[in-house]
Amino acid sequence: MTAAPGTDPPVLALDDVSAGYGPFRALFGVSIEVRPGQAVALVGANGAGKSTVARVASGLVRPSEGKVLVRGRDLTGRPPHDFALAGVVHAPEGRAVFATLTVEENLELAFRSLDGTSGVRASLDRAYELIPRLGDRKRQLAGTLSGGEQRMLTLARVLVLRPPLLIADELSLGLAPVVTRDVYRVLAQVRDAGSSLLVVEQHLDHALELADHVVMLTQGEVTYSGPPSGLGDRSSSILLPVGSPGRVEQAHELLAEERTEPASGAT
Ligand code: ATP
Repeated sequence: MTAAPGTDPPVLALDDVSAGYGPFRALFGVSIEVRPGQAVALVGANGAGKSTVARVASGLVRPSEGKVLVRGRDLTGRPPHDFALAGVVHAPEGRAVFATLTVEENLELAFRSLDGTSGVRASLDRAYELIPRLGDRKRQLAGTLSGGEQRMLTLARVLVLRPPLLIADELSLGLAPVVTRDVYRVLAQVRDAGSSLLVVEQHLDHALELADHVVMLTQGEVTYSGPPSGLGDRSSSILLPVGSPGRVEQAHELLAEERTEPASGAT
């Protein structure tokens, strides 16, 4: 569902954004666009600034310089609820479900803003149709679902509400590869249902399969922006796809560095 170029403004535009935490600067002049119907993968090593971009794009971190536009509206410096009202949903790392409610109660809560009881019922039916496993488990407490199932529940809410922009921040974190594949299948459904995606991922494989466009961050700066096919070797020094022979060696090097450099300022 890609809009004809030039017709609609980008769903999200970060224009020359710098941002940080107190005196620490995490982003340096970052410009990123997500166009209607597009899935943009944001990749980079640990600490590159990916989550900070996600937080800027949902109003959780205010830029010190530059602008943030959502569907053509300048929301720079505005609070997160203005971003939510403009159609930005931020699915953060980890799980975001109410553990003591059932699967169905979690979904009902999410759909309550929809028109009337019939709207909620229709949305529940749609969620179960799209992710049948949730239908099988609708009476189960969400806290007893597996990690992957909890992530699916988070995505089911988004899938049905069809936000203009979903920011998916490391949704695969801690999941088994087979479950990650399922999560990415649902993300593709979210995109096919009309949402644009900004997918933050440290692991390349699935993100690149899904994405139309890739932005690579290195130490807070954009070092690549283009199609997945153009990423080439740029990523290989810091981001190796699952199965690459160099991954274990890289992990050894990182561990060795950690042993020789005790973390400073640890709390
Ligand atoms: P990861 O893949 O490890 O989650 P990332 O690319 O998402 O990394 P960020 O979480 O955006 O990176 O962090 C960018 C930089 O900002 C890092 O150096 C990090 O230590 C710093 N940072 C992140 N959050 C905070 C915070 N709340 N306070 C201070 N510094 C922070």
